[in-house]
Amino acid sequence: MDLHFTAEENAFRDTARTFLDTHLPPELQRKVRQHLRLAKDDYVRWHKIVAKQGWAAPAWPVEYGGTGWTSVQRHIWEDECARAGAPPILPFGVNMVAPVIMAFANAEQKAWYLPRILNCDDWWCQGYSEPGAGSDLASLKTTAERDGDDYIVNGQKTWTTLGQHADMIFCLVRTDSTVRKQEGISFLLIDMKTPGITVRPIIMLDEEHEVNEVFFDNVRVPVSNLVGQENKGWTYAKYLLGHERTGIAAVGRSKRELTFLKQLAMQQVKRGQPLLRDPAFTAKVAQLEIELMALEMTVLRVISEEGKGPGPQASMLKVRGSEIQQQLTELMVEALGPQALPFDTAFLDGATEHSSFGDDLAAPLAAYYFNYRKTSIYGGSNEIQKNIITQMILGL
Ligand SMILES: Cc1cc2nc3c(=O)[nH]c(=O)nc-3n(C[C@H](O)[C@H](O)[C@H](O)COP(=O)(O)OP(=O)(O)OC[C@H]3O[C@@H](n4cnc5c(N)ncnc54)[C@H](O)[C@@H]3O)c2cc1C
Repeated sequence: MDLHFTAEENAFRDTARTFLDTHLPPELQRKVRQHLRLAKDDYVRWHKIVAKQGWAAPAWPVEYGGTGWTSVQRHIWEDECARAGAPPILPFGVNMVAPVIMAFANAEQKAWYLPRILNCDDWWCQGYSEPGAGSDLASLKTTAERDGDDYIVNGQKTWTTLGQHADMIFCLVRTDSTVRKQEGISFLLIDMKTPGITVRPIIMLDEEHEVNEVFFDNVRVPVSNLVGQENKGWTYAKYLLGHERTGIAAVGRSKRELTFLKQLAMQQVKRGQPLLRDPAFTAKVAQLEIELMALEMTVLRVISEEGKGPGPQASMLKVRGSEIQQQLTELMVEALGPQALPFDTAFLDGATEHSSFGDDLAAPLAAYYFNYRKTSIYGGSNEIQKNIITQMILGL
């Protein structure tokens, strides 16, 4: 296994970097690099710029608008996007529902949804989790009962990320309660404007409206919005979760955040010298950097096996990636000490140009720290990933 990049791959990196240098709007870059909040328009704007270049869905087959890049090229592109401070392309459409549509939907559904996902004409959200059905997802209770050419959907989803902006939700619903719980689930695509849907915000520790509860009260959904076969939704759901965990290591973003942490620690003065020269603090930063380099090598090792999906190794990447992301935020807060305490919501939301607390780099970091507690929970909690590693990799 050769973990070095080839000359062609380095040339590809130059191409990606040139594109980002010339097309990434500085105001979006500033928001990402300074940990400010992105609005819906920010995500959509960047998605459409990348879509115009034909690079919005690199992993898709070329026939649907993918790039034909190798997995190493895709990794380089993600790495460069993170380095530049580009907003993420949200996964719900491109990386989650689209692969399911490609694999299991009918021709009409593919022709309608895939181009719209590629161009970000619809904002998608994920309707899997329910109160009482998270790690044990197959226990979900939202029902869909057949009534002529429609299903009538009743129930509740929760933790629905950015569902307040969504045009569409892909939902797991129970269509048969008489069989084993995994066998009575179907995969429905639901228009969020349908009467009977209520979206209620969940405000998180960082005071951000990032997740929601979504209620379904006699919501009429055409049977033509069913993906694949009725009661086969669990198979499609698992297929999707495999895609969800790909890329979850977020190595590129952590490398950018490590650079930021060092910059921050250079500016903080402790006993007459920059904090980054303090041996105790530097040792922590160095340890984290070593772990991040090791994770990057693991990611390269996984993707060097072209053609094979990440399989259970994705669970390792998720656990280590999320732990490193959280440790970075912890060291940022530690570097700042009491300066990390303020919450400046107006500045975070872009309503003011500068923080009223004086330090624009420091002001968003308490919220950032709190926000990142989520990474060890979403996408399947780290405890669940460790169960998968134990069974599938260690064979215990
Ligand atoms: C910020 C955020 C965004 C999210 N976005 C979405 C979204 O857009 N759409 C969506 O459908 N869902 C979303 N989720 C939900 C997420 O997938 C679930 O929170 C996650 O699967 C855990 O489920 P739960 O919250 O019900 O916790 P539970 O399953 O109740 O788990 C509680 C605790 O018990 C542990 N635990 C549970 N079972 C086991 C076990 N067998 N062995 C060991 N430990 C166990 C868990 O690790 C956890 O620590 C989001 C969650 C968060 C925090």
